Amino acid sequence: MAARPNLFENVNRQFDEAADVLGLSQEIRELLKTPYREITVTMPIRMDDGSLKVFKGYRVQHNGVRGPQKGGLRYHPGVDLDEIRALASLNTWKTAVVNIPFGGAKGGVQCDPARMSQHELEMLTRRYISKLSMVLGPTRDVLAPDINTNAQTMAWVMDEYGRKNGYQPACATGKPLELGGSQGREAATGRGVAIVTREAYEGVLGRSLAGARVVLQGFGNVGSHAARFLAGMGARVVAVADVGGAVRRSEGLDVPALATHVRQHSGTVAGFPGGEAFDPAELWAQDCDILIPAALCAVLDGDTAPRVRAPLVVEGANAPATVEADRIFRERGILLIPDILASAGGVIVSYFEWVQNLQQQYWEEAEVFEKEERILVQAFRDVQAKAEEHGCTWRTAALVLALDRVRTANELRGW
Ligand code: NAD
Repeated sequence: MAARPNLFENVNRQFDEAADVLGLSQEIRELLKTPYREITVTMPIRMDDGSLKVFKGYRVQHNGVRGPQKGGLRYHPGVDLDEIRALASLNTWKTAVVNIPFGGAKGGVQCDPARMSQHELEMLTRRYISKLSMVLGPTRDVLAPDINTNAQTMAWVMDEYGRKNGYQPACATGKPLELGGSQGREAATGRGVAIVTREAYEGVLGRSLAGARVVLQGFGNVGSHAARFLAGMGARVVAVADVGGAVRRSEGLDVPALATHVRQHSGTVAGFPGGEAFDPAELWAQDCDILIPAALCAVLDGDTAPRVRAPLVVEGANAPATVEADRIFRERGILLIPDILASAGGVIVSYFEWVQNLQQQYWEEAEVFEKEERILVQAFRDVQAKAEEHGCTWRTAALVLALDRVRTANELRGW
C-alpha cells in the first residue's frame, strides 16, 4: 500500500499545476493557498452511560473573497486538521468553478457516529455550534451535511445557532424541508454527478450511456443518487462497494432494490440478494466503462490507478485521487472529471437553499433541478474550453478557471 499523502499538500500540488498555467507569482500563490482562519475546539460531552468524553472538532475557513464561506460538516474517526484544510480549499475552488457567490470552508469532528446515540450526536452538534457561532452565520460561513451528517444534524445546527442569533435558517443548508430545506437538495450532488457523467461520456468520449457499465465506491448520499439517476439515463450499475462489503451483477444491479436493502440493513450493500458478493479490494479492477469513487479521500493512488479499466473516472467524492493517480490516468489516456466540477451539484443547490431562505421563498423541485443542470452544464463547458485552450487535464483546467476567478475578485477588493 502506498502511504496516504498529506491531503492539503496533494491539493496544493494540483493548485500549483494550474498556477503554473496562469503564471501566478509566488506571493499570490501563497495568499490564495493559505486559509483565512482555522479553529480547533474541544467538546466535553456527557455520554448516555454517564461517562465524560472529550471530542475534538475543526472548522477551516479558507477564502471568502467571492462570498460567505461554505462547507460541509463531517463526523468521522479519521478527521484531522490537514484533511479539513484540504477540503476547505477545494470548496473555494468548487464554488468558483460553478461561479456561485460563495467561498470555501469545511468542518469536522473526530468521532465514531456508529457508536453514538442520537442524543449524544445532538449534544455534540450543539456544543460544536455554540463554540463556533461567532464566526458562523448566513453572511460569514454556512454549514451543510457531509460524511455521517444529515438533515437532522443541520436542524440542530440551525436551532443552536438561532438560540444566540435569532431565526436564521440561512446559517445552514441541507436542512429538512419542514425547516426551510430546499426541494432537490438531498439528491443534488448525486444528480450532478450523473449529469456531468452524461456530458463527459456522451459529449466528450462520444459514446452512448445506454447500457454503459458503471462501478461505484460508496452508496451513501452521493453514490446512491448518482446510481439512481445514471440507471434512469439507461446505464447499468454493475458493481458497488461500501464500508460493509461489495456486490456486483454484470446485467446491472436493481438500484432501487439496493437502496431499500441499504436502508433496511444498517446502511451497507453487504448481503444484497440481487448480486454476487466480492472482495471490495477488487473494486478498482472491475471491467467497466465509468468508475465513480463516491466515498473516501485518496483511494485512487499509485497502487490502485494502474488497475482501473474504465476510460472515464468521475470524482463523486472530494479528493479521491492523488497527484500520482492523476499522472497515471493522464499517461493512460483515462479522462478524469475532477471533484470540484463533478460533485458541485450539492453546493449549487445549497446556494439555492440559502437564496430561498434569505428571500423567504420556496421553489418547486422542477425549478431547482432545471437551474442546477443549467449551472452545471455551463461550468462543464467552461472547463472543457479551458482544457482545450491550455491542452491540460480537466483537473488543471477546472483549477485554472477557479483560481483566475478568485484571484480577480481578490484583486478587485484589494489584497
Ligand atoms: P455518506 O456518509 O452518505 O456515504 C458515504 C459512503 O461511503 C457510504 O456508502 C459508506 O459505506 C462508504 N464508505 C465509508 N467508508 C468506506 C470504506 N472504507 N470503503 C468503501 N466505502 C466506504 O456520505 P456522502 O455524503 O455520500 O459523501 C461521500 C463523499 O462525497 C465524501 O467524499 C463527501 O465529502 C463527498 N461529497 C458529498 C456531498 C454531499 O452533498 N453529501 C457533496 C460533495 C461531495
